[in-house]
Order: sequence, then C-alpha cells, then structure tokens
Amino acid sequence: MYAFDFEQPKTIAEAVAALADDEAQPLSGGQTLIPTLKQRLAMPSKLVSLTAIPEMKGVCMNGNTLCIGGATPHAVVAAEASAYPALAALASNIGDPAVRNRGTIGGSIANNDPAACYPSAALASGATIVTNSREIAADDYFQGLFQTALEEGEIVTEVRFPVPQAANYQKFVQPASRFALVGVFVAKYADGVRVAVTGASNDGVFRWTEAEAALSANFSPSALDGLSVSADGMIGDLHGTPEYRAHLIGVMTKRAVAAAS
Ligand SMILES: Cc1cc2nc3c(=O)[nH]c(=O)nc-3n(C[C@H](O)[C@H](O)[C@H](O)COP(=O)(O)OP(=O)(O)OC[C@H]3O[C@@H](n4cnc5c(N)ncnc54)[C@H](O)[C@@H]3O)c2cc1C
Repeated sequence: MYAFDFEQPKTIAEAVAALADDEAQPLSGGQTLIPTLKQRLAMPSKLVSLTAIPEMKGVCMNGNTLCIGGATPHAVVAAEASAYPALAALASNIGDPAVRNRGTIGGSIANNDPAACYPSAALASGATIVTNSREIAADDYFQGLFQTALEEGEIVTEVRFPVPQAANYQKFVQPASRFALVGVFVAKYADGVRVAVTGASNDGVFRWTEAEAALSANFSPSALDGLSVSADGMIGDLHGTPEYRAHLIGVMTKRAVAAAS
C-alpha cells in the first residue's frame, strides 16, 4: 500500500463534492478495490468511502419495483429482497460470507466484472441504474469488459428492479473464486422474457436475444431445443474453453427456465 487521503462523507452531495478532486476514487466494500490498491494497479490520491451514507443503504418496494441502495451489502439483499426471490438467492450465493458482508451492489455494478452475478440480474430485469445525476437503463449501462456508462466521479446510488412474474439465476461456479464461470439470469415479464448471460463473453454481460424470443413464445426448457450460442467471442482460459462456455449457456438457461417454472 502507499499513502492516500481518506474521507467518509455522510451524504451523497458530500461524496460527490469529495470525488471532484483529481484522482479521487469511490470505495464501497473494497472487495475488489483494496486488492487492486495492494497490487498498485490503481493509485488514487484519495479514497471516498460510500458506506456511511444512510440514503445509499437498504432495500424497499415502490409499487412493483424493488429498490436497492448502492451501498447495500450482498448479505442484506439476500436477507431483505424477499419480494424478488431470484435476486435474493443470487445475492446469497456471491463469494463467501466476508465478501457478502462487505461487497455492495453499487460496487459490483460499477466494477462490471465479466464474471460478476449482479450485472446479469440487472440486464435481465431491465433494471434502472440510478446515479447522483441521472437514471440509466441497464441496456445502455453495461458497455463491455469492466466498462459502464458511468462518468468520472459519478456514483451508483440505487438500482431499481421491476419484479418479474417468474425468474431464476443459475451459476456454474468457478470453484476457486466463487465467481460465475457462466451465469444465466432469466426473467419473465408480462411483455416478454429477458435472458442475460455473465461469465462467458469477452464483451462482458450480454442478452441472449434468440432465447428471449423463443421463451417469450413458450416459457419452457424445450423452447430452447436447437438453439445454441456461437463460441466466437467467448472467454477461453484454464477454467474453460470458449466452446465449453458457449455450451454451458444453453445448459444453464434451460435449468433456469425449469427452476423458474
Ligand atoms: C473472493 C471473492 C469472491 C467473489 N465472488 C463473487 C461472486 O460470486 N459473484 C459476484 O458477483 N461477485 C463476486 N465478488 C465480487 C464482490 O462481490 C463485490 O461485488 C465486488 O468486489 C465489488 O463490490 P465492492 O462493494 O467491494 O466495491 P469496491 O471494491 O469498493 O469498488 C469496486 C470498484 O467500483 C467503484 N465503486 C464502488 N462503489 C461504487 C459506486 N457506488 N458508484 C460508483 N463506483 C463505485 C470503486 O471505485 C472501484 O473501482 C467476489 C469478490 C471476492 C474478493
């Protein structure tokens, strides 16, 4: 580690002001950022903690929309998002207890790791990412590997999930990290089905639109018979080849539909 300033504001407005300084960076659960600092892959001059801001914490319902504060840890989502059971289950299977008690939904969505779980839930749910300055549709927010629509100094203050009629998340766990080797989130709404895939693509989380069309017509695993995802652009590493990951997408999507049904 090396020397840096540290601030812990109590309001979103104070956090935004603190982040206006050159090379200041938000810190949430630190589950990604602290190891990055230790390796000196990032060297911000100031860390602005977002974990003491009450207006960024908690889970609530607004009509049929589940709202989760950006600084809410995964363990709290697991315990309190009972209105959206598939999302609560996803949160309860992230990492290990230490990661779930420190890591936050805002940090996960901001980091947009290609193997993270929440991006698939947000994309499959057509969620709205709320920041200190605007609201961004999930379809516009996720822009590739570790890339999002966030501007410098912009913070995720809340994520809003329309609650679907049925949903399920299936994660093929990478056993060392607990991240998704491949994860598929399926959500069925009155106007159609959305399917989002994490862990698989070199471009990060994506929607499998062919599966969405088939499942919107017939919400059953058999609707996916004959459909497959190309291995082109899939991640290949020591844990799995591109072909393996492409195959897993079909398997996990069928399992998610079966479980949601
Ligand atoms: C061992 C291990 C296992 C894990 N397993 C999983 C898993 O199975 N599934 C999964 O999805 N994730 C997993 N994670 C990731 C973890 O759950 C966190 O979501 C992730 O580390 C980021 O959240 P954080 O709150 O710790 O963010 P931090 O590490 O504090 O920050 C991450 C990045 O986001 C920025 N940032 C943080 N908060 C905000 C905000 N509100 N607005 C804008 N920018 C912000 C920071 O500046 C930094 O660049 C795992 C992590 C570890 C260490």
